Amino acid sequence: MQSDRPTIFALSSGRPPAAVAVIRVCGPKASVALERLIGRVPQPRQAALARVRDPAWGEAIDEALAIWFPGPRSETGEDMAELQVHGGHAVIAAVLDALGAIEGCRLAEPGEFTRRAFENGRLDLTEVEGLADLVAAETPAQRRHAFRQLKGLIGDRAEAWRKQIIEALALVEARIDFSDEADVPEDLVGPALYAAQQLRCEIGEALANSRGERLREGLVVAIAGPPNAGKSTLLNRLARREAAIVSPDPGTTRDVIEVHLNLADYPVTLLDTAGIRESGDPVEQEGVRRALARVEGADLVLWVIDGSATGGAVSETPENPIKSELWVLRNKIDLAVDKLCKNSESRSTKTFAISAATGDGVDALVSGLAAYAQEYFSATESSIVTRARHRKALEETAAALDRALAYSAVGSEELIAEELRSAATMLGRLTGRVDVEDILDVIFRDFCIGK
Ligand code: GDP
Repeated sequence: MQSDRPTIFALSSGRPPAAVAVIRVCGPKASVALERLIGRVPQPRQAALARVRDPAWGEAIDEALAIWFPGPRSETGEDMAELQVHGGHAVIAAVLDALGAIEGCRLAEPGEFTRRAFENGRLDLTEVEGLADLVAAETPAQRRHAFRQLKGLIGDRAEAWRKQIIEALALVEARIDFSDEADVPEDLVGPALYAAQQLRCEIGEALANSRGERLREGLVVAIAGPPNAGKSTLLNRLARREAAIVSPDPGTTRDVIEVHLNLADYPVTLLDTAGIRESGDPVEQEGVRRALARVEGADLVLWVIDGSATGGAVSETPENPIKSELWVLRNKIDLAVDKLCKNSESRSTKTFAISAATGDGVDALVSGLAAYAQEYFSATESSIVTRARHRKALEETAAALDRALAYSAVGSEELIAEELRSAATMLGRLTGRVDVEDILDVIFRDFCIGK
């Protein structure tokens, strides 16, 4: 760790004013900062009550708790100091000013503490992502999953896979490099390919469970249907806030409106799509195009129809083949002549009779949605892929392993080695720990070449 590295500091707690503010300092001058501001460096990792003074004038700024975390056993791996002061604007400004006046100290950039933790090997990339997810988590399910990721759910697995690939690669490389040596066994490639095959299956299983990605973004539920059916009214009722413009004029909801809900503790993103219909107006056509694209990508479509006029003509359901599950909502039952319309469930779809305006039937719909979300997310506990980046890295790893296995038919050890190397690199990219030197380490550790 270079000692000329800037020392960074920042307010790490939430927006002031607050009862307490946490100011963190990280880098080679962290101990100097403590000496200047509180006149000493407390015992490591023990909270100490201290008077914080402005080093320029000696004026007392506040009384604080100070904690000293010497590196490398700190969160970032570098020397760190933490001051817990009273969370007023002026107190915070005075402490930050005093820190800024110390040579070699500057305000941290966004994410810079975590970046240092990564650079110093305290967190891998997937753990950095887990930390970001934990801070952003809105539902218990998101929180649980983010915490597991922060604790190495995918990172440890990827690292274990990478090590296994490197071991397989070491076997193949040994076969290539030392094939004329008497003490290197003939069949090193067979066990390497067997290991690659096993790994390919494990990675395939991890990729098959894609619901972890939805846990971050939320289950996507699109509200669609003809204009004036009551989609925006329903969205408002579900969101219990005025997110969409409710208007009696068809075609006013041009853009796709998103509302994030916590349904039975699971994240759900509700989309209000523009009234899907033919239109000559280019702006409206664009709205229709976007609406259709979002509907197609949704997990569940709530197709709203005006149930008062026709008794809910199912012919109004969309003509384009929607791949998502579709529920039909017969809205405006408060106006229906036939007040007996009931919820129903057939093999292909569920139908709910509701009134978005009065709220009739909406509780049953919400229960249905909550059950759907719960069922959908029940598979996420075992899912390790939570981001497109993970998916891409694992897909590329799997593709490289497939190619390595395919080359075994041709018997080309160089090509097998090449593909195993690229599989290891993909996994290294996933965790941010690409290091080819360790391939050599494994060769020398596992084989007594000795000459
Ligand atoms: P959208 O075009 O599908 O988004 O439809 P809106 O939500 O803008 O609703 C169109 C009109 O129908 C508005 O005047 C709403 O107040 C009315 N409306 C929506 N739902 C109901 C309902 O359940 N009952 C009645 N009586 N009117 C409704």
